[in-house]
Amino acid sequence: MERITIATPILNGNEKKYVDECIDTGWISANGRFISEFEKKFAEFCGTKYALACCNGTVTLHLALLALGVGPGDEVIMPTLTYIATANAVTYCGATPVFVDSEPDTWNLDADKLEEKITSKTKVIIPVHLYGLPCNMDKIMSIARKHNLAVVEDAAEAHGAAWNGKVVGSMGDIGSFSFFGNKIITSGEGGMLTTNDEKLYERMKLLRSQGVDPHKRYWHTTVAYNYRMTNLQAAVGLAQLENVQWHLAQRKRVAALYEKYLPMLGDLVSTQAVPAQANHVYWMNSVILSESVKLSRDEVMAQMEAHNIEMRPLFYPMHIMPPYKDDSVHAPVAESVSSRGINLPSHGKLTEEQVRYIVESLKEILEQEA
Ligand SMILES: *Cc1c(COP(=O)(O)O)cnc(C)c1O
Repeated sequence: MERITIATPILNGNEKKYVDECIDTGWISANGRFISEFEKKFAEFCGTKYALACCNGTVTLHLALLALGVGPGDEVIMPTLTYIATANAVTYCGATPVFVDSEPDTWNLDADKLEEKITSKTKVIIPVHLYGLPCNMDKIMSIARKHNLAVVEDAAEAHGAAWNGKVVGSMGDIGSFSFFGNKIITSGEGGMLTTNDEKLYERMKLLRSQGVDPHKRYWHTTVAYNYRMTNLQAAVGLAQLENVQWHLAQRKRVAALYEKYLPMLGDLVSTQAVPAQANHVYWMNSVILSESVKLSRDEVMAQMEAHNIEMRPLFYPMHIMPPYKDDSVHAPVAESVSSRGINLPSHGKLTEEQVRYIVESLKEILEQEA
């Protein structure tokens, strides 16, 4: 039986045709029609005025923070339970990430624990729409506005997700997306920034390309970066975006299959709760093993691997890993969820038979020791 992987890109649209066009025309670098079209269509998709394509979804966060003036001595509040790119982007600016615990049901940043972290040094809040589930943006934006803080949405995992009908990437001051190979849509490596603010857009654009004066060749107005996307990446990204509704529908289909079969496991596992205001796009379907399961999370994953099924642990909280280790961070929910959490295969090619096999295999493993 073929190994069932966590993720796989699905390149079934114009990807090949557009990449061929790049090669046939020689437009393979950071100029070309696919870049501007990808940006334009992505801005439409998010309902923002501007979108800016970059080489990945880590540098997008870096550019967003730089454009907002984050620098040494500043603090940036973010969830401890996220992918490390969120924290690293803060560190690149010389600023300090301040970690907040998760909500027990959604695993997203707990907005009720946000305000107590705000100090005179706080500049920005980065909510992360974890695994495709949008954060409570009403609460987060109202706290941010009250304290005059900027918000960068880390929407790397959540293309097309929405809170109260508003699409992620359009609610904060800036939205940041990733098109890594395992994300909802991909460009191989790639990222996108979204904003409605012209000044922030212009600033991020300047910083993306060596700070070059747009009207004077080789005249540079500031120290900046080469964070550009290539036309080759944009060719793949644009083709993916043309089919984004289909990709999102596949995610919903797979999530519905898990919803159908996971009840077989009774209360041996729990799943990420979806608030009524949220449109979850299911980058990952995940389970938390209940306390009654005697096997460790890692043993469960190893046994699933023997069934030829790939699983991954949930992210580790930032504050327990070497670069950000900090015993003073109080985040019992994130620690607990992370230590017992598993991502299940979640890509859009999964069949009903495969999802049933995954859940049945998990049941067999969990029940032997429960
Ligand atoms: C994937 C991801 C990123 C960015 O990743 P890149 O691999 O640099 O594109 C940032 N934040 C989160 C939460 C992610 O999952």
